[in-house]
Amino acid sequence: MDTQAVRRDFPILRQLVHGKPLVYLDSAATSQKPEPVLRALDEYYRTYNANVHRGVHVLSELATERYEAARARVARFIHAPGPESILFVRNTTEAINLVAYAWGRAHLRPGDEVVLNPMEHHSNLIPWQLTARATGAHLRFLDLTPTGEIDWNSVDRVLGPRTRLLAVTQVSNVLGTINPVAELVAAAHRVGALALVDGAQSVPHMPVDVTALDCDFLAFSGHKMLASMGIGVLYGKPDILAEMDPFFGGGEMIDEVTLESATWKEIPWKFEAGTPNVAGAISLAAACNYLDQLGMAQVQEHGSSLAHYALAQMQQIPGVEVYGPPADRPRGALVAFNVRGIHPHDLSTILDQEGIAIRAGHHCAQPIHQWLHIPASARASFYIYNTPAEVDYLIAALQRAKEYFAHVLG
Ligand code: PLP
Repeated sequence: MDTQAVRRDFPILRQLVHGKPLVYLDSAATSQKPEPVLRALDEYYRTYNANVHRGVHVLSELATERYEAARARVARFIHAPGPESILFVRNTTEAINLVAYAWGRAHLRPGDEVVLNPMEHHSNLIPWQLTARATGAHLRFLDLTPTGEIDWNSVDRVLGPRTRLLAVTQVSNVLGTINPVAELVAAAHRVGALALVDGAQSVPHMPVDVTALDCDFLAFSGHKMLASMGIGVLYGKPDILAEMDPFFGGGEMIDEVTLESATWKEIPWKFEAGTPNVAGAISLAAACNYLDQLGMAQVQEHGSSLAHYALAQMQQIPGVEVYGPPADRPRGALVAFNVRGIHPHDLSTILDQEGIAIRAGHHCAQPIHQWLHIPASARASFYIYNTPAEVDYLIAALQRAKEYFAHVLG
């Protein structure tokens, strides 16, 4: 991959922050946007902005055509059987809530079980807590190995005849663990349960094939994969979606309405009440084109090798603790860590002065921090525009931060 050519496509990276070149290492929170995505957004608003599926006029027809083409493009990106299995939502959080409400509340009975694990983002935990509370279902949790991977011994123990759904992230946003999702989906299916995959940190970074995974649902966010904010996707197997009731009611999703009752459109539209984020969907299609041109295998190789490079260097610095699988295991494009004696928030403030953007805190994943027995962590996350030189710059800045604190604290 020609990283320098990629970088030229990202105008935001050309700026200085506190007088230093911006080193953006926070793509797990949100990615930056390349020119083709910015152009697609600009072109939409400048030349064919209109509401979709409504007016019978040229602009509306064009907007509708591009919106539906975006759906088909996203379907191809994740190897979905067809566009009807792609629901446009706001983000991963909304996608998972849609399943928890529209599927969970209709199907879960008292005593049924939803299986999660401690590395889940709050987006894949709280919706299930709420649904369990409403239905009387129980949450059960797989164990993790000491290195932060799913412990297979617990899979056979926890999954059972009461399991209705297994919900699991494909890549942990804190540990960087890549979970063996195909095997977990198969284990869920063996006990007659459905499987939902949180793809927020995987779809932007690695080839994901929902047909090969055989997952029933996959949720992901456009803004983490070069597209604009406010557009996300829920993939669902068409027969499961067809059988589900809508999540939101309103305009666009109906077939016929009387004062007393209504019938729904077919999937996917029965799940898309109200005016959708047309520009967002179009930007997501442009993002899929961009990523596929680079090749998702190359995208994965690039992000994962930067993470491994950072991990190897951090492990050499006394007082730096890194989390997640060891260096010889696969890893997503991120490393969470702590520098002894420096709160991650202080560390990120110091790094910010050097032009480096990292994330600090619990990354919306408090249970995994409890599991690690730490209150918070710092996280460097990488994407197609990051370079080994930026990792070196981060490592040098970490060394300086350590020395500075050692000096101040005596
Ligand atoms: N799941 C994982 C693993 C994530 O990393 C994130 C975002 O950080 C989310 C879900 C939630 O994504 P969003 O805030 O776009 O809904």
